[in-house]
Amino acid sequence: MARTVLHGLGASPGVAVGRAIVVREVEASGAPPDQAVALAALEQAAAELGRAAAGLRNAGLADEAEILEANRLMAEDPSLAASVRELAARLAPAEALREAAEGFAGVLAALPDPVLAGRASDVRELGRRAARIADGSAAQPLAEADSILLARDLGPAEIAELELGEGRIVAVALIEGSATAHAAIVARSLGLPMAVAFGTDLAAIAEGTVLVLDGEQGVVSVDPGHVELEEAQETLRQGSRRRRALAGLRGLPTETLDGRRIVLLCNAASLPEIDAGLAAGAAGVGLLRTELAFLEAPAWPTEQQHRAVLEPLLAALRGRVATVRTLDFGGDKTPPFLDRTPERGLALTLAEPDALAAQLRAISQAGADARLRILLPLVESGQQVRAVRSLLQDSLGEEQPFELGAMIETPEGVRRATEIALEAQFLSIGTNDLVSSTLGLHRDLPLASAETAADPAVLAHVVSVVAAAHESGITVEVCGEAAGVPELVVLFVGLGVDELSVAPARVDLVRGVVRALSAERSGALARDALAAPSAAAALELVRSGEAGDELREALEGLGGVRARG
Ligand code: PEP
Ligand code: MG
Repeated sequence: MARTVLHGLGASPGVAVGRAIVVREVEASGAPPDQAVALAALEQAAAELGRAAAGLRNAGLADEAEILEANRLMAEDPSLAASVRELAARLAPAEALREAAEGFAGVLAALPDPVLAGRASDVRELGRRAARIADGSAAQPLAEADSILLARDLGPAEIAELELGEGRIVAVALIEGSATAHAAIVARSLGLPMAVAFGTDLAAIAEGTVLVLDGEQGVVSVDPGHVELEEAQETLRQGSRRRRALAGLRGLPTETLDGRRIVLLCNAASLPEIDAGLAAGAAGVGLLRTELAFLEAPAWPTEQQHRAVLEPLLAALRGRVATVRTLDFGGDKTPPFLDRTPERGLALTLAEPDALAAQLRAISQAGADARLRILLPLVESGQQVRAVRSLLQDSLGEEQPFELGAMIETPEGVRRATEIALEAQFLSIGTNDLVSSTLGLHRDLPLASAETAADPAVLAHVVSVVAAAHESGITVEVCGEAAGVPELVVLFVGLGVDELSVAPARVDLVRGVVRALSAERSGALARDALAAPSAAAALELVRSGEAGDELREALEGLGGVRARG
């Protein structure tokens, strides 16, 4: 294909330069029908998904591992197996598998709920995977130099299994796909630039063609000229200089130019995440999600089971802040034994006081050497915090060597923030849930949802919670995804938030942003943002104002990010 630029949609930011490497679509094999081969391939596909999930979990990507776990369960769905069995009576195994998956995908794609509809791509991945196993073909083409992988569509596990990095896969471009698919979420978490929805023009690119991909703009430049190639390579060099410059600030205080200290913590659910956060200089963990280890549990976890999970995690946090959240089951984090429960978070565990007491005892014992804080999810009244306090007194006595905090994640929690702040020793704002419950959005919508936290209605909630906490003389943390988004960091600092708890991969960035800001100017900007007509307008205010210049300088990683003692 001659020099040209193809336009798709950005799905995971970043620029990459590499040679095209093409995932070939498996052709009809003409093999005879064989139900046993088809069903065995489906089983093996489930096992592969389980392994890919474990890989992500070990890499510290617990949420992404959950996506693959859910897909593994889908592979084990008896109705899918029944459909495969029926089709495999008359079709070649690979075709039966693809067709069964396509049937399920079609049903999902037609659903009005965008999140369920987005699962269609995951079912198709399962069909492709099982068909490939039945056919005995290779999983992915092997990259021997920096390569940009071109495919019709890829699922989240296929992204997770790619060999990434220099000399391997450096970006992905898809004929189909969507920026909101699970594959895009996994690509973003892995820092893999990806662009999607190019249509069939992408299929015309020959193997080995030099490409420049911009995953933010959703553009692929085919066979770029010398100048464009040099520009892309300079962008890459700048990116790695920026990361090095931000990492060079580790060990320096997370403090604004006018001297306001922010406590910088990380979110975690596993040991690799804790290790990564501490290595980046987080002061400890601001949110340890405990429910993720028990999403497959057949019953409420026992005290021993909690201790087995918590002890290695909290041992790594000896002497540091360890904010352990009690089980936040419900919603999209519902284990089979709680199927169809309408409750979530603290309301759900308060209805099972023995189970809650068992976890509280386990946390307090496993965290004895850490600066322990216990955090309650989705708190909506002071009475709920009092109920936990009395459980604690019953099971641990008067001596409770930890602080008890409350997460504010709903408009009702915000409305009652003052009475909650009177009972709690710190507050934490969960913007993932607060954004969705305030604006009526599904919380699984793409990362852009972190930016929707700039909606003035959400910012007004943050103002109320900060005021309630500070009037009671306690601190307030933000621990949703928005805490790791530079523009939101400006607003949260401006609104008086004391602590930010972010994904381990964002710790360096957030420190760099805070150190480039003036708390006073951020305050003025946040007040303007509160009066903006929309999240987009509030973000634009941040980007175009003085803080925008400070941010740009900080993010460029040169000049603006100065080492200070
Ligand atoms: C939140 O809602 O912002 C939060 C941090 O909790 P989770 O994402 O685990 O619900
Ligand atoms: Mg939440």
